[in-house]
Amino acid sequence: MKTAKELRPELLRIDRKPYGFYKEIKGRYDFGTYVLNLDYIQPDPFAPPSQVAVRVSGKTAGFPPALLDSLTRRVALEDCLTRYFYQQAQKVGRGKRGTGHSGLLAIDKPSQEVLMRTAMVVRDEWVEARFVIGLPAWGRRISGREASEIFFEEIPELVQRTLIYSNLDGDLLEKYVDLAEDAEFIRARLSEKGLMAFVGNGSILPRVSGVDDRPLPSDAAIPFQSPPELEVEFDCPHRGPVRGMGIPEGVTLIVGGGYHGKSTLLSALEKGAYNHIPGDGRELVVTVDDSVKIRAEDGRFIENVDISPFIRNLPLGLDTRVFSSPDASGSTSQAANIMEALEVGATLLLVDEDTSATNFMIRDERMQSLVTKEKEPITPFIDKVKQLYADLGVSTILVMGGSGDYFDVADTVIMMDEYLPRDRTAEARSIAQSYSTRRTFEGGETFGRVKDRRPIPASFDPRKGKKNQARISAKSINSIAFGKHYIDLSQVEQLVDISQTRAIGDIIHYAAKNYMNGERTLREILDLVEADLDRDGMDVICPYLKGNYARPRRYEIAAAINRLRTLKCKD
Ligand code: ADP
Ligand code: MG
Repeated sequence: MKTAKELRPELLRIDRKPYGFYKEIKGRYDFGTYVLNLDYIQPDPFAPPSQVAVRVSGKTAGFPPALLDSLTRRVALEDCLTRYFYQQAQKVGRGKRGTGHSGLLAIDKPSQEVLMRTAMVVRDEWVEARFVIGLPAWGRRISGREASEIFFEEIPELVQRTLIYSNLDGDLLEKYVDLAEDAEFIRARLSEKGLMAFVGNGSILPRVSGVDDRPLPSDAAIPFQSPPELEVEFDCPHRGPVRGMGIPEGVTLIVGGGYHGKSTLLSALEKGAYNHIPGDGRELVVTVDDSVKIRAEDGRFIENVDISPFIRNLPLGLDTRVFSSPDASGSTSQAANIMEALEVGATLLLVDEDTSATNFMIRDERMQSLVTKEKEPITPFIDKVKQLYADLGVSTILVMGGSGDYFDVADTVIMMDEYLPRDRTAEARSIAQSYSTRRTFEGGETFGRVKDRRPIPASFDPRKGKKNQARISAKSINSIAFGKHYIDLSQVEQLVDISQTRAIGDIIHYAAKNYMNGERTLREILDLVEADLDRDGMDVICPYLKGNYARPRRYEIAAAINRLRTLKCKD
């Protein structure tokens, strides 16, 4: 390892030389307080910026062991430090100066969720921040003076401000970490109370806009308040007793007039699979880990899924036990989305009428008389939703303002009324008794089979271009370029951070290389990948240092695999 003293003359030596000389400074440098690792050096000022890391020893950083004595606490601490580093980099960094990315100093920008990230890794022995810098140039000539500013002024200042515990607000850090632990505490105790989700009183569910995930300001938002019938209490380790609405297992309907906040509640529940940062408004909105949003997604690719519980006897004799399509319909795509979620372990389905196929959701008495069962391939969800719970133990929370037929199958009915929930279970039941729908039940005796598929590794080819190199990248939060193909995740609504999308691309490659063999099932493959991520952290998925991954859930990894148009599976 070189020392910081050696870096200065090197920068002087390459000053004003062509940009390529920067690669001579690659390596590790001892700065006393920390080690600077110049791991990847960009080839020119316009290329993606250089990847660097600073590592401070645990002793120097001085974080109290209590902040990192469980996975939840450590992940929250890392997440919090990432955010703090992000803010401080904007203050300490002197900004872009020169050509291209020259002068940039930035760490991965986190979303509203607390996620395991590679931007910041805290271990007992050390703390490491991974970020990027734009090595400065004027034209294509190295600017050694500006580079010295970054290495000898900006980075040392940032390290002092963000990675040394004694310079941080310890109370704030503790609150942050405690909050994540409280949310995790609730999540771990949902099942013993027979619940699938919890929404704390006082939560702020609406967001600023469809493209801004911050909370609606408090003067505009009506805070959540549980109806008395559904109110439950959790005695959290840090904030003590919290009260709010518990959504029980089974089938839950969310009804109410248009614009009364139904979809807003459902989307908060979707994101309740993650912990949220303090001030987000959804800190105490907690759902079980295994919730999956289900929607219609016409046009999607489907490979060898058994959708026969919902769809049989398609025209032309297509076999729906081995259903494949390059361009699925609304109903077949929604059926496939359910079957794929069940295949990898979903225990809670979240469905919104706004984004469902009508013919998949309901088939009323009149339609049953006109179009007989022999002529209708679809068994509607209403005839399957109870079996999902009875046979498989899978609950459903369903936004349904349009059809009271669902009263027959609901265990709990929540009505949103001017953004406040009311328990209307008893009324819905008595209405169902007084006005019988007289529709015929079409669901058969049991839910049907959930098929395991065995992905074939050769169907994951990440290569592209002349050199046949692996080319995988996230183009946006909902698009992955995987070799020559794009994976469209625009309808996969529980992705929350582009860094998750980035990770998913590389996880697919990692899974294909290490665990797919045409024999293992998709579920087994995901189990193995998740065990690696739990044990060794996110770094395992990439051979070199990368500071911009965030951990995805298994459901979103599966969703991406299922949407790769070259996928081939055996069953
Ligand atoms: P629905 O699905 O019942 O038609 P939405 O959930 O789409 O209604 O909500 C309609 C509008 O009301 C949205 O713009 C949403 O941001 C806003 N909204 C939802 N909940 C609240 C609330 N608690 N306070 C203030 N505005 C809200
Ligand atoms: Mg809606």
